[in-house]
Amino acid sequence: MAEPYNFSTRLIKDTVKVDEETGAANVPLYLSSTFHQRNFDQYGKYDYSRSGNPTREALEDAIASLEGGVRGFAFASGMAAISTAFLLLSSGDHAVVPKNVYGGTFRILTQVLNRLGISHTFVDTTDLNAVRRAILPNTKVIYVETPSNPTLRVTDIRAVSKIARENECLTFVDNTFMTPVFQRPLEMGADLVLHSATKFISGHSDVVAGLAVAGNEAIADRLYFLQNALGSILGVQDSWLLLRGLKTLEVRMRKSVQSAQKIAEFLSKQKEVAAVYYPGLQGHPGSDLQARQAGSGGAVLSFDLKDEERARTFVNNVTLPVFAVSLGAVESILSYPPKMSHAELSEKERREAGISSGLLRLSVGIEDAGDLIRDFEAGLDAVRRLKDQPVRSGE
Ligand SMILES: *Cc1c(COP(=O)(O)O)cnc(C)c1O
Repeated sequence: MAEPYNFSTRLIKDTVKVDEETGAANVPLYLSSTFHQRNFDQYGKYDYSRSGNPTREALEDAIASLEGGVRGFAFASGMAAISTAFLLLSSGDHAVVPKNVYGGTFRILTQVLNRLGISHTFVDTTDLNAVRRAILPNTKVIYVETPSNPTLRVTDIRAVSKIARENECLTFVDNTFMTPVFQRPLEMGADLVLHSATKFISGHSDVVAGLAVAGNEAIADRLYFLQNALGSILGVQDSWLLLRGLKTLEVRMRKSVQSAQKIAEFLSKQKEVAAVYYPGLQGHPGSDLQARQAGSGGAVLSFDLKDEERARTFVNNVTLPVFAVSLGAVESILSYPPKMSHAELSEKERREAGISSGLLRLSVGIEDAGDLIRDFEAGLDAVRRLKDQPVRSGE
């Protein structure tokens, strides 16, 4: 059945469910772990909130609709969603995973799933031949995260899903950076979409949460079983906050993307900036592919100030962004991947991943773009002044 409403309308329609009983315009907080069964022989839809809760279910239904899937699942964190999804695999199974996958996903693969006999191969998923070569007879999943963190490399979701199907594998896509506003992997052949809803979907740096959406009933049934069995569900109040976040997801993201584009263009003209990584920029290696599979370059970009001292000087001389891990909020967030998200990598691994000691990642918020650019000009001025000083020997 064709969707009668456009995406912007569904963001509201799917999250505003007028309460039958009272007419309340918002989904109530059903803070109840258990549910009275009115009939001794026939139990109602809800019995215990790990297995199902009406507030959480409203969120799960909304994300399923927005991603174009058959069923949604809300988890206590992005990592809870991702870990639960990987437990669709069994001992002896193998997964193909991007080299520059999110650090927490790297950790669960290399320190937990490997102990359970679930193996993996890390590849550059932007290279389709490398993906093909990594597939083994026991490969069950090809995992995609696009654009990647922090250098925003773009993987072809349609092509990888096709390779996966040809090899009887599933495709999982971590869609945290784009959200269904800009990228809907299930429509491009993926089987399961994962989110750290902590980021754009919450949008206000106030919740840690994860979401998953299954593309077909078979995966949905197995994932529901695991969600209930493992129990890492999202709480009722956090589910409600995500329903609220979803309502403004598109307007927040469109504003942030517009500013990100302007800031990326501004930064790419600055002499102090060695490189800008943003898939909305002409000249970014994945920009054409990004335009084909996603509606924008997104709200996250990275830029290279050449060395740590310059990065530190920049951070110390800007006032608007929060300097923190995480991304996807109304406030701009500046982070330093070498000592934050990618601190666990060795220097060699960081170099191979393109994470130089001068790299900063910016998640653009909804402040005025002109104000942000003026703030960054002040940061770059300070970097410029630094350059006037003699370079220490040994550098
Ligand atoms: C933050 C993040 C995660 C992990 O989510 P949590 O909510 O922190 O557990 C997974 N993938 C990506 C791309 C992320 O940015």
